[in-house]
Amino acid sequence: MKQNLDKIYAQMKKACEEANRNFEEVELIAVSKTYPKEAIEEAYSLGVRSFGENKVQELMQKMEQIDLPINWHFIGHLQTNKVKYLIGKVALIHSVDSEKLLLEIEKQSQKQQITTEVLLEVNISNEASKWGFKIEEIKNILEIAKTLKFTKIKGLMTVAPFVSNSSENLQIFEELFKLSVDIENQNIDNVTMDILSMGMSNDFSVAIKQGATHIRVGTALFGKREYATKTKED
Ligand SMILES: *Cc1c(COP(=O)(O)O)cnc(C)c1O
Repeated sequence: MKQNLDKIYAQMKKACEEANRNFEEVELIAVSKTYPKEAIEEAYSLGVRSFGENKVQELMQKMEQIDLPINWHFIGHLQTNKVKYLIGKVALIHSVDSEKLLLEIEKQSQKQQITTEVLLEVNISNEASKWGFKIEEIKNILEIAKTLKFTKIKGLMTVAPFVSNSSENLQIFEELFKLSVDIENQNIDNVTMDILSMGMSNDFSVAIKQGATHIRVGTALFGKREYATKTKED
């Protein structure tokens, strides 16, 4: 794993240099979904502090099993009935993809009197199989976001298609970046665009060059995933 991590850091550094950015501006989120607690502990021992999970139940189990001060990031589609389990437990929810979900996060955060930081997930590639707002839906959700008291919009997230040549996703990352600049320029209450969560194992270098502040990397660090049989819970 050390070799994998060193390789990722080297690629991140190279992309930052080519884009004239500081390496410190980009945060690596180790996507630990499907990997056991030992893998997370090993990555932690190598200095990784942020981990991403996409299922509430799996995340809760890992939080219980692992006694380390980890910054947990929730990156998967979130059902409204499970929001209450995440509030106060995660550093950032990357995957707000509906008005209903945003309002539930607000409700549960108010209940606990804490502020929850979230990103809006945008379906830039407009794939039917993907979660996230369409670009034309963003205006409306920002109108709602600015009225919230316990939920802060910190930026945008996207999941690009899996492509064999990572440069094919360049345009998607560029569009997310442009959208974030456009929103930033509107100076909307309660909305900042500090975070751009984009780029995965196969395309994070391209994403960094297009302005990613957080990259979500699983297989390049932990190796190939083996998926368990799908249950209705998923
Ligand atoms: C699984 C997953 C990743 C990581 O994918 P890899 O290709 O393994 O790096 C990133 N983001 C999301 C939302 C994911 O579900």
